Amino acid sequence: MQGYKVSCIRCGAAAQSVLSYSCVYCGGILDVSIDVEFRPELIVGNDTSIWRYRAFYPYIREGDIITLGEGFTPIVRFKNGLFLKLDYLNPTGSFKDRGSSVLISAIRRFVDSNTFIAEDSSGNAGASIAAYAALAGIKAKIYVPETVSGLKLEQIRAYGAEVIKVKGGRTKASEEAIKAEPNKVYIGHIYHPIFRDGMRTIAYELYEQLGGKVPSAVFVPVSAGTLLLGLIKGFEHLLGSGLIDEIPLIVACQTRIVSPLYHAFKGLKYTPPKKVKTVADALVSTNPPLLELMVRKLREINGDAIIVDEEEILEAYWELASRGIFVEPSSAVAYAASKKYESIQGPKIVILTGFGLKTRIYQRSRV
Ligand SMILES: [Zn+2]
Repeated sequence: MQGYKVSCIRCGAAAQSVLSYSCVYCGGILDVSIDVEFRPELIVGNDTSIWRYRAFYPYIREGDIITLGEGFTPIVRFKNGLFLKLDYLNPTGSFKDRGSSVLISAIRRFVDSNTFIAEDSSGNAGASIAAYAALAGIKAKIYVPETVSGLKLEQIRAYGAEVIKVKGGRTKASEEAIKAEPNKVYIGHIYHPIFRDGMRTIAYELYEQLGGKVPSAVFVPVSAGTLLLGLIKGFEHLLGSGLIDEIPLIVACQTRIVSPLYHAFKGLKYTPPKKVKTVADALVSTNPPLLELMVRKLREINGDAIIVDEEEILEAYWELASRGIFVEPSSAVAYAASKKYESIQGPKIVILTGFGLKTRIYQRSRV
C-alpha cells in the first residue's frame, strides 16, 4: 500500500511487516510516517470516532477497522481559558483506545486462531487491548506487574483476556511479554509504532474542536510516552500541511517520584526509587524505552516538562471531582501541573486520560 512507511529512527531500515515492534537490524525504535497531507475535506464528517480521520491512516484497509466508537471526546471549558479534554470517556475508560483501535485494525489479518497477542501494561493499555482483541476475536494475554490495582485487572479479565502477573515491577512485565514463545505475537503498546500512531488523532480533534485554532498549551501526563509523541506528531502533521502556524506549548507532566523524562529533558540525573509508590498508578515507567525520542521531540518543538508532588495530585483530583470531573489520580497530574502555568493566556488544554472508577477512590482527609 502507498502513502506511508514504517522505519527505524536509528538506522532508517524499513520494518518487515505491520507486526514489527522494533528494528530487526539494530533493535531501534520504529516509527510510522505518512505521506498524506491533512486536508479538512478528507475528514469523514458524519463519523464521530477517530475513524473520521481514516484518510490519514493509509495503512488501514476500510474493511479491517475494529472500532468501539473511540475518540472525538468532548472538550469542556473549566475556568479562565482552561479546557479539559475528557479522554477518559473512551470505550474502556482511557485514552489508550485510540492506539488499540488502530493497532488491532492493522494487525488483525495477520493473526490467526492459533496465535495469541501479548501486551504488557500497568493496567489501562491492557484493558484497552483486551477489549479490542475481544471484538476482533483475537486471543490476548496481558502481562502486568503484580502490584497492579484490582479494578484494572478485573476489567482486563472481564473482556476475556488472560492476565499474567509478573514479579519485579513494570520493566520485568515487559521483558516477560516480549520473550519469544510459540504462537505468540508481541504487540506491546510501548514499542509498537502503530499503537503510538493512533494517538495523533487527539491533535486533529483539538484542532477541529477549537475551530481551527491552536491552543496556547497542552498538558499531558507522561509515562511510556505514546500520548506525548502522538500529540506532537499530530500537530506536526497539521503544521506541515499548512493548516496551523505553530505548534502549541506541549507540557509533559510527571510525578516527582516517577520523572525520568523531566530529569532527562532538564539535563538532570534521575535515580528512580527502589519501589515505586505513587497515587498515580498509571505513571510508573521509571525507565521508558522511548525516553530518548521523547527528549528529542520535546526539544524540537520547544516543549516543556514539569513534576508535581503527591499532595498536589490529590488536591487536583479532589478539585476536579468537586466540579463533576471524576478522573484517576494519574490524570489529575496534568491538571495539577497546569496550575504552575497560570500566566499563560488561553486556550489551554488539559488531557484527562483515565476514568475515576479505574482506581480506588481517595477520600479527602478531614482536617
Ligand atoms: Zn535500525
